[in-house]
Amino acid sequence: MDSRFFDSGFASLEAYVPGEQPKDRKYIKLNTNESPFPPSPAVVEAINGDAASLLRLYSDPTSSDVKQAIADFYGIDTAKVFVTNGSDEGLSFLFMAFSEKGTAFADITYGFYSVFADLYHKDTTIVPLRGDFSINIDDYDGIDKTVFIANPNAPTGMILGLDMIEDLITRNPDRLIVVDEAYVDFGGESAVALTEKYDNVAVVQTFSKSRSLAGARLGFVIANPAIIAGLEKIKYSTNPYNVNRLTALAGKLSMGDREYFDKTRNTIIENRTWTMNELRARGFEMTDSKTNFIFVRHPELSGEAYFLALRQRGILVRHFTGKRICEYNRITVGSREEMEALIAATDEILREAGVNHG
Ligand SMILES: *Cc1c(COP(=O)(O)O)cnc(C)c1O
Repeated sequence: MDSRFFDSGFASLEAYVPGEQPKDRKYIKLNTNESPFPPSPAVVEAINGDAASLLRLYSDPTSSDVKQAIADFYGIDTAKVFVTNGSDEGLSFLFMAFSEKGTAFADITYGFYSVFADLYHKDTTIVPLRGDFSINIDDYDGIDKTVFIANPNAPTGMILGLDMIEDLITRNPDRLIVVDEAYVDFGGESAVALTEKYDNVAVVQTFSKSRSLAGARLGFVIANPAIIAGLEKIKYSTNPYNVNRLTALAGKLSMGDREYFDKTRNTIIENRTWTMNELRARGFEMTDSKTNFIFVRHPELSGEAYFLALRQRGILVRHFTGKRICEYNRITVGSREEMEALIAATDEILREAGVNHG
């Protein structure tokens, strides 16, 4: 029961539930879309060095080094970059302070959107995906609210073409379009270039997935400088030192190590293709993933049964209970060894369930 001191306005808030991180045994973790690879060696070396001794000092409230590294990576001005404590913080601020007329997002998308909408008491329009989980941008016509689109979408892994994103932006120049590109580095097309052309688009990205820094908590927003100034205002009104020193250092070095970034993300993409082919050969159906996860179901094995059987064998994946997706599991693409273990476990599970796949 809530404390009697807890604001009644939050009584019905349903908090975000992160993927489970059980400690009862060692699992192959394919449930929270982390990278199987360590951060860039440059990051590990710097943090293992004397960086920790500087923790007595506050971090740089402007995160200027990280900002510069991001601006360099994308070839844009630093005035267009806002650095956040995980991309969840950027999303939080955009829901809080850039959604006065309300918010609109898909019925099947990142689960945090509905939590933020509730937290900030936003009037929200839920826009159902098509039957095949694709986004129909016509469905957003006439909705004069801030639109949040995960592209690629989660947990479906599917992309919306950049031409469609541009259509969304131009069809209503007085509404802000937020493009959450948490997975863009695994095969999507970034909308960053559109922020040079339009003032009603904000791109949100994270270091958690393609840069192996989930535990460091680092993300960023790219948008026109006026939007960035608004985000800075909110930051200085809540937590000026939002990015800690070690994380800022890790972010700068990670952005600078283009070679390692390309090597690791390409390996994930190769492992994804391999795993999708193996699963397809075993009768699984799946969406066309452009992310570091695969969204699968099997016509002869329930989503829950597959999830529990994998768990019993020490492999964690993410199972959803929503009506449209309860037969699906979202499986993070890990190392080749982890994917081979997944397939071996899957063979056992199918055999035990009496599913014949030739
Ligand atoms: C993982 C994820 C995020 C949040 O990532 P952070 O770890 O907070 O940077 C945001 N959006 C989507 C769609 C995600 O999958």
